[in-house]
Amino acid sequence: MRIVLLGAPGSGKGTQAKLLVEKYKLPQISTGDMLRDAVAEGSPLGRQAKVAMDAGQLVSDEIVLGIIQERVTRPDARKGFILDGFPRNLQQAEALDQLLTSLGRPLNLSLLVAVDVDALIQRLVGRRTCLSCGQMYNVYYAPPHIEGRCDECGGRLRHRGDDNEETIGNRLRVFETHTLPVAEYYKEQGKLRTVQGVGEISDIFKAMSKVVEDVKANIKNETRTDAIRAAFAKHRASKAEKAAAAKKDAAKKKVTAKKAATKKAASKKVVKKAVKKKAVVKKKAVKKVAAKPAIAKKKVVKKKAVKKAVKSKVTGKKKPVAKKKVTAKKKVTAKKKVTAKKGAAKKTTRNKVVRKKVAVKKKPAAKKKKAARRKR
Ligand SMILES: [Zn+2]
Repeated sequence: MRIVLLGAPGSGKGTQAKLLVEKYKLPQISTGDMLRDAVAEGSPLGRQAKVAMDAGQLVSDEIVLGIIQERVTRPDARKGFILDGFPRNLQQAEALDQLLTSLGRPLNLSLLVAVDVDALIQRLVGRRTCLSCGQMYNVYYAPPHIEGRCDECGGRLRHRGDDNEETIGNRLRVFETHTLPVAEYYKEQGKLRTVQGVGEISDIFKAMSKVVEDVKANIKNETRTDAIRAAFAKHRASKAEKAAAAKKDAAKKKVTAKKAATKKAASKKVVKKAVKKKAVVKKKAVKKVAAKPAIAKKKVVKKKAVKKAVKSKVTGKKKPVAKKKVTAKKKVTAKKKVTAKKGAAKKTTRNKVVRKKVAVKKKPAAKKKKAARRKR
């Protein structure tokens, strides 16, 4: 639980801080105290702070933040701390946020002890302190039994010099112009809780404790929510992993299926090719068969072409082969003609013979002629 206490001067926030430290066992980190300690110890940061203080300058935010960092990283601050007196302005608030975030220890709560100005003035103006034991009284809220006398030790009570209305007015103005923007800053972050610092110290503390308990419970819830969120994230991650694995598997199967399909298709193709080849062979065979008449036709076409060529070359140089062919053809034709003539002649001769025989039967002279032919 990391708390920043905010409060106007006289709000009693110092008193409340001490009570919170006791109850929640959290170290109080008061920048004023720490600076004094650092200077007294002579630590590097303390020496730097001393130089500024000796020169009458404000200790830089850098030094204060360095001291805060050193303090909040101590083991006793592991569970948290109550920061009091810092930040006093917006710039310091932002720097503190940066530092605590970088340390992984962001603030959980900014607790503002709000006080009505009238009530504040009454409180400050009515404040009395025992000169002997330091016990504090307020003539308005917590007056001593005997006016001006300490209940504890009977010592004299004193009104602090700076507790007059003028100085109180100045301090309030500083608070309003510088610290209220800080409260606004934490409000925007949703970290600001306000407790009215009016009334009995114990009542104010009750109210403050309630706020702290609320925030603590919220942190627990948030932590639980974080745990649940983490669990869900883990679940989702494993789910996504499984889904990814399933996807991969499916993709693998797909590839395998594709490969198988491709193989099948390839084998089908091979079969098809084989079938095609067979078909081609068949076709070729058919073509061959068909080609024979085609070849014959081609031959005829060639012959015709030759004839044409011969005809067209009649006037030009004749091809000897064509001539020969033509000559051969002519010879053949002539022979055929001759044979045909001979055949015709024989026929006519035979007819003549028949006629002659008929004539011989009629004329003996014809018989003599026939005999003469036989003798030859
Ligand atoms: Zn006293």
